[in-house]
Amino acid sequence: MNEADSERIAGLLTAEGLEAVDDPESADVVVLNTCCIRENADNKLYGHLGNLKTLKEERPGLQIAVAGCLAQKDREEIIERAGHVDVVFGTHNLHRAAELLHEATTADGPLVEIVDEHRPDAASMDARLPSERVSGHSAWITIQIGCDNSCTFCIVPIVRGPEVSRRMGDVVREAEELAAAGVSEVTLLGQNVNSYGRDLGAGQWSPRFADLLRAIDAVDGIRRIRYTSPHPKDLRDDTIAAMAECDAVCEQLHLPLQSGSDRTLTRMHRGYTAARYLRRLDAARAAIPDLAVTTDLIVGFPGETEADFARTLEIVDEAAFDAAYTFVFSPRPGTPAADMSADTVPAEVVAERMQRLTDLVARHALAHNETRVGRIEEVLVEGESKTNAARQSGRTRQGKLVHFDAAAADVPAGTFVDVRIVRAAPHWLAGELVATVDGSRHPRRRIPVTAA
Ligand code: SF4
Repeated sequence: MNEADSERIAGLLTAEGLEAVDDPESADVVVLNTCCIRENADNKLYGHLGNLKTLKEERPGLQIAVAGCLAQKDREEIIERAGHVDVVFGTHNLHRAAELLHEATTADGPLVEIVDEHRPDAASMDARLPSERVSGHSAWITIQIGCDNSCTFCIVPIVRGPEVSRRMGDVVREAEELAAAGVSEVTLLGQNVNSYGRDLGAGQWSPRFADLLRAIDAVDGIRRIRYTSPHPKDLRDDTIAAMAECDAVCEQLHLPLQSGSDRTLTRMHRGYTAARYLRRLDAARAAIPDLAVTTDLIVGFPGETEADFARTLEIVDEAAFDAAYTFVFSPRPGTPAADMSADTVPAEVVAERMQRLTDLVARHALAHNETRVGRIEEVLVEGESKTNAARQSGRTRQGKLVHFDAAAADVPAGTFVDVRIVRAAPHWLAGELVATVDGSRHPRRRIPVTAA
């Protein structure tokens, strides 16, 4: 969500005549768009601001803005600790980025504009703001902001507010415009996409997320649809059916588990049991062949016992995820879990549990990836490999990272290619370029998981 917001801020500033540069040294304006989901974002922010202070002393005309949800949460502290900041603004008023920077040029001190309570209606959501997209072939589409859930570890409902869905027609129109501009892959963004539309229907919940998937699937030129994230308690059969039936919807599901212990899930206020989670996962895997499933897991939630953690290992083993984002619990101010400090799990215990968990996740990830060796995968090229300029990288429909040897001139970013997979590791696949895939849309190819 923050990456999508950053593209909007960049779009607004570009519309004012600014040009993007690669390094802060040559910039006239630096905007740090922050996120407060994790604790170490605070430390990173003040590290960056420290570096920028030297730059500002050399060039007093440099403007520095801090945006995003950390700015919203820590507005006074930012000004106190970094008096060289010119503008501070939050997630609800990013549309004012350019104006605020302009106003700051004549202001006496730092300009702070935060809107804490904001519930835009669907019609006035900031969807029509320009975006300076990082990729020409792949784009985020925000379909919903905020969250109506109350997970005890999560700061999102505090900083992003209640759920508001964009109107389906607006979302589809954005997808059509993106397709006309050459975008072939879209990722739909929301805090809980399964409840998309709940606030739009008059007395009846419509449209639902499944309707939106089907509508975007019908947009000519959009060949891949991804989304993040669904809440396990709300993963409905109609969403699974739409995923199975829409050619463009990728065989990829990110379904955050967080913990395998029912006791911990209750303390987290997640609204499902581990057994129910596994049932929804089974339903999705049964309906969607070759589905890759990833998850989020928190280690060391306050009061997590060895028995709770052992249950997490059992469920992770049973779920056999393709990958998992594993996080050490980090208390976020204002959340119920931040008041559970009496139950803090010692750091050395958390580190040891994390090691066991990541080892297990890596074993399953490698096993999944090894089944793909020998297969020909459709890869959407993202560009030069970050570690080897002679190689290109891209993603399969399942979201798996693939490296292959090819000159960038032969396969520019945004090209669909067929790659024969020859090697697998837990986090990537390596392969040989077979052919460039025809640019026209073609139906989803079903490849049995066990095929060699
Ligand atoms: Fe946070 Fe997600 Fe829970 Fe909403 S559903 S409160 S965004 S963790």
